[in-house]
Amino acid sequence: MSDCLFCKIIAGEIPSTKIYEDDKIYVFADIAPAAPVHYLFIPKEHIQSAAAVTPENSAVVAHIFEKIAEIAKGDEFKDGFRVVSNCGDAAGQTVKHLHFHLLAGREFTWPAG
Ligand code: 5GP
Ligand code: ZN
Repeated sequence: MSDCLFCKIIAGEIPSTKIYEDDKIYVFADIAPAAPVHYLFIPKEHIQSAAAVTPENSAVVAHIFEKIAEIAKGDEFKDGFRVVSNCGDAAGQTVKHLHFHLLAGREFTWPAG
């Protein structure tokens, strides 16, 4: 998608701080961190949101969660962490490319705001 911010980040057209990359996913630091550790996990394939996950494209979601579990073995995640995917305008999705926030390094309240 030529007008998608995260597709441009994957393509290297917009710089980002890379945490991890493979042929299916890209992981990078959020530009406006909401916690001391704040990474974004995105599929390289453009998927609009969690509402656009189907049997045909869902394998990448499992792959993302495997990678979250691997990265979250790091010391900065030892006290707990949160995984969030905002879906749609009312939920606060500002970038319409499926992404999972991985947040750690502080206490989180519930319910989410
Ligand atoms: P959403 O609000 O859609 O759930 O999450 C989008 C996230 O993308 C926000 O946390 C925002 O800070 C982050 N973001 C927006 N633009 C950029 C950018 O150009 N670079 C990086 N690294 N993160 C961005
Ligand atoms: Zn995209």
